[in-house]
Amino acid sequence: MLSYDENGNLRDYEESQKKVVCGKCHKTYLQETEEQVAGFKEVDDDVCPYCGHINDRSGDVEFFNHKLEDNQ
Ligand SMILES: [Zn+2]
Repeated sequence: MLSYDENGNLRDYEESQKKVVCGKCHKTYLQETEEQVAGFKEVDDDVCPYCGHINDRSGDVEFFNHKLEDNQ
């Protein structure tokens, strides 16, 4: 997927990133997930970067959520 990063450069996002719609405020954000290391797993929350609502949680992956630019 092609998108612009925070510096305005076009980059090819990896497949671990996807767009998610918040279940509370219905805004779309970019979610990046990273597998947790076995033996060091903690439950991580999928927190909406706009309103702070927790949409999901996982003990297998960490969530890194980013706001999308308004013009996308
Ligand atoms: Zn939200």
